[in-house]
Amino acid sequence: MAGSKYAYVRNFELPDPLLPGTFMLLRLDGHSFHRFSDEHGFTKPNDSRALELMDHAAKDLMEQYPDIVLAFGESDEFSFLLRKSAALYNRRQSKIVSTLASLFTSSYVFHWAKYFPDCPLKYPPSFDGRLVLYPSAREIRDYFSWRQTDTHINNLYNTTFWALVQQGGQNTTYAHATLKGTFSKDKHEILFSRFQINYNAIDARFRKGSTLVREELPEKTTANDDGAATGEPSDSGAPAAVKMRGRTKPRTQVVVLHCDIIKDDFWDARPEILA
Ligand code: ATP
Ligand code: ATP
Ligand code: MG
Ligand code: MG
Ligand code: MG
Ligand code: MG
Repeated sequence: MAGSKYAYVRNFELPDPLLPGTFMLLRLDGHSFHRFSDEHGFTKPNDSRALELMDHAAKDLMEQYPDIVLAFGESDEFSFLLRKSAALYNRRQSKIVSTLASLFTSSYVFHWAKYFPDCPLKYPPSFDGRLVLYPSAREIRDYFSWRQTDTHINNLYNTTFWALVQQGGQNTTYAHATLKGTFSKDKHEILFSRFQINYNAIDARFRKGSTLVREELPEKTTANDDGAATGEPSDSGAPAAVKMRGRTKPRTQVVVLHCDIIKDDFWDARPEILA
């Protein structure tokens, strides 16, 4: 790579390393998904197909990047926690953010037809990404509490709003007005007394979002079974297949949970996440 007389422009590319020994938190969010969900006929308030597709893309990311120790998704967003010691791409910020956002997006498109067999994509979706560094476990716990509280607030609002519209016959302007100034308990009351909906009986996926963690596989599972089950991207081709046969069997698999991550129980059971 002898330098041409043009090569000096490379010097304008500045390094963007991330502080070592800090937690990296990457959040991806669908670009203009208000429109995207309308154009693709998402069920309101919650389209399960769309949420499961998001989970699938997030799982692909965790399978590709072992440094991701936890992920949490709701609506059109997903947050990924990378361990403090992560050294991927020499901790170059733009390389990490752009590559992971790109893989998530292509995975979302790649698997689209599995979840929306009757609805071809009308245009290519995109996701934005931002990466924030956090110094300690406290901020990480609070970050995930923040996102799951957001899930709860939005879902309670949206569930009540769409009940007023779909079952109560209100138009959207009127439904917004009905909910203006109401507290959480008022929404529970509207749902229960007007529509016989017990909020706490609603699918946990909608109330709690999706939490992805690595869980140890049962002892006797074989490497081949795992390879097939994870559905590794086929673009890894022959060399990856050889590598797969040669490597020791994976000890963990990524699982999707819909549970509380605000209380201590979740974290106490998985001390490795914040290690
Ligand atoms: P921005 O580009 O700023 O993120 P946005 O239109 O994507 O704009 P968000 O605040 O991210 O705005 O909200 C995403 C919107 O996408 C939600 O308000 C909702 O209308 C819709 N949406 C996303 N996922 C689903 C889903 N699974 N079911 C129904 N609607 C969804
Ligand atoms: P990195 O992730 O660091 O970018 P890379 O494998 O993508 O690694 P690059 O320096 O970007 O490395 O080089 C891309 C490589 O992809 C080329 O060296 C070439 O082997 C291959 N390639 C890309 N486009 C073509 C093409 N149109 N025809 C043939 N080979 C191609
Ligand atoms: Mg937004
Ligand atoms: Mg969005
Ligand atoms: Mg969003
Ligand atoms: Mg390249």
